[in-house]
Amino acid sequence: MELQGHLLYIDITQICGIGCAFCMYADKHKAGISMELSTLARENLIALINSPSVKRISISGEGEPLNNAKVFHEILNLSNGGKRFEFITSGFFPHAQMAAFYDETDRIVTANGDTCNIRLSADSHHIEKVKWRAHGFSVDYLQRRQLSRLSFSFRSIDTDRYFTRQYLIEELQHWGIEADIIELGPLEDVLMVAEQRLGIDYKNLVHPATGTSQGYLDMHGYIAAIEAKVNKHFTFGSLNQSPHVNGMDVTIKPNGDVYLYGIETLRLGNMHFDRLDWQHLQTQLLSNPLARALYTQPLTELLSRLENTDLVQSIINRVNNPYWLVKELAVHDGLLDVWEAA
Ligand code: SF4
Repeated sequence: MELQGHLLYIDITQICGIGCAFCMYADKHKAGISMELSTLARENLIALINSPSVKRISISGEGEPLNNAKVFHEILNLSNGGKRFEFITSGFFPHAQMAAFYDETDRIVTANGDTCNIRLSADSHHIEKVKWRAHGFSVDYLQRRQLSRLSFSFRSIDTDRYFTRQYLIEELQHWGIEADIIELGPLEDVLMVAEQRLGIDYKNLVHPATGTSQGYLDMHGYIAAIEAKVNKHFTFGSLNQSPHVNGMDVTIKPNGDVYLYGIETLRLGNMHFDRLDWQHLQTQLLSNPLARALYTQPLTELLSRLENTDLVQSIINRVNNPYWLVKELAVHDGLLDVWEAA
């Protein structure tokens, strides 16, 4: 099986004081830890980041990654150049501090010959909690500084897209910036600011709370929208646009544990204690029956093989997202046997 165009997620902290109502990691925030880089961790990250088979390195967290900005900048410094980084954040710092963060990020990626996209949360859940809003400020910063290696985009989990669109248009107006929305599909818009195109990604709602107004994409709708976008069946892994083959989707947790994204029943190692490279990770993936099935067979087919019981349906409806599904199904003995034998 050929795997190419990998996505490396690095979750650099569990700390967050923002308190979004829907947060899936809220239980980890108070006693949470932040990533530190041991000597072996640095060596492993250098090998993983600088492989030609990596398409993007995405820095995020089970908390707010700005709370560990120092390690983010250390990770950027491990690149040998030519890499695409992404930083997913609420952008909650006061604006002067946010500008200093952008300045340092731009300095490092420019020196190394990399790029970094800052992906700002722009949905009603985050906006109502964040005092210092970064959206208008960041677009203004980009225009004033004329940067070429730093870019911005937005992400939202709002059940309809009206809030995010209106919010961004009005917020940018407060900064004297005129913007328009172009609709691209159920999962993406583009915010046009003069000649600049800033992407807006929409995710479906994980674990929708009881009473959430209808109209959000359910898991099957979300899978269908992703399939239409990449023009191929949804499997696990980093889905690259057809006809390109898919890559691996690997997540490193704040404590250094390594998993395939969405398959947290299988720990592949720890970056502080094990030697890691993409070939070794791929060997582990292919030798595990569950991971191999999820990477090679369309999820819709795998779902059709599960017994259509009330339990399975209630898990699917409750989780509402393919990447949260496996660990919830795995809690129930025997439910996943049919996939492991597939
Ligand atoms: S900012 Fe992110 S980590 Fe913090 S509470 Fe909101 S969703 Fe959770």
